[in-house]
Amino acid sequence: MREKWEKQLACLIECPRCNGTLEAKDERILSIYDHQPICMVCKREEEQGADYESRSKQMIEQWISETETHYGDLAGFCYHHFNPFKC
Ligand SMILES: [Zn+2]
Repeated sequence: MREKWEKQLACLIECPRCNGTLEAKDERILSIYDHQPICMVCKREEEQGADYESRSKQMIEQWISETETHYGDLAGFCYHHFNPFKC
């Protein structure tokens, strides 16, 4: 069974950041800022952000400390912020 966030987000056909088309075969990755799947071009831009590293650290720490989360698979969700995936 796929996780909730995947059903809602993983198969977007448009990058919410730049409105570029995303095809099923295109890699996408979750933003650490708004947790939307964005295209790799936007991810590279995000990585240039001055607070990118502290934000990702913060995000991971927050998730580790939360015992209950609305994202069923915490590790999987976290993982997809740092590893591109396909629909
Ligand atoms: Zn984009």
